[in-house]
Amino acid sequence: MKCDHCNNEAKVILDNSNNLCMDCYNKILSEEYGCECFNEFTREIVISEPDGTIHTFEIEQMLLGKYTYWRAYEEGGYEFALRVDTESNQKVAVKRLHQKILKGISAKSMQIGQSQPGQISNAVYRGNLEYNLNETGLLRIEDDADGKIYIYMDGIKLTGEEFLKMLTVYNGFNMEWRFLDIADDVDMPLKLSITKDRMEEYWQKFESMIMRFAEHGSFVSYKRSADLSEEIFEYLDILEELIRHGNGEDAVELGERIINRLKGLETDDDCFPIYEIESVERILER
Ligand SMILES: [Zn+2]
Repeated sequence: MKCDHCNNEAKVILDNSNNLCMDCYNKILSEEYGCECFNEFTREIVISEPDGTIHTFEIEQMLLGKYTYWRAYEEGGYEFALRVDTESNQKVAVKRLHQKILKGISAKSMQIGQSQPGQISNAVYRGNLEYNLNETGLLRIEDDADGKIYIYMDGIKLTGEEFLKMLTVYNGFNMEWRFLDIADDVDMPLKLSITKDRMEEYWQKFESMIMRFAEHGSFVSYKRSADLSEEIFEYLDILEELIRHGNGEDAVELGERIINRLKGLETDDDCFPIYEIESVERILER
């Protein structure tokens, strides 16, 4: 089905008759609501995990009047979403969605091991990898056109039978559960899978963020310090998660590197980066 206005694939049917692609739909709705149409975002992002697994996400925006819904969808795998006020800065929303993807991919619901000869009855196998259920986790339920139900966990599609099989590792336990809107933030303790490589990756991310704002890699003008500060605080959310659920020692090392880098910056801003450094220190103290 093609969009009535352009040649893109139609995804929305408006007023039961107009077939529209997401962009044309958002354009029409933003005109109707008298808000600015935000169109400058990357439609596809690719994220690679330290083990080499590649995830390709399609990014989609949908205006729903007062709210705007952001969705990142991986074919046959992960899905993340965010609901924000339409009036709010959508650039920030896109960044938050990216953060949510990174955080979501880092937090695992299953433990991966190399499969051994003679398979364990309550693990699930993909290729030469063995997956075991963690004590806490997150999953998404979907059914296909035939009504067959699938579970998506850590970006992996499992059958209902496979999921039940994994549950048997907790035979004799009680299980409690709750459901969250996909756009909500997850606040349950998910195990972050952090390796040394991953920490280095996080450091590189921080360094490239500083390099984008600092002249000659060392001077941050007061004109740019507020924008940099905003990005630093988004980044610190992840640092906090790493310390809370990942490998604490490595995360502390990362935190100290960040503090030293910030202390070494020159600036003509009276406040920056005092508060930022204090915030990292506060996270490390916990
Ligand atoms: Zn269109």
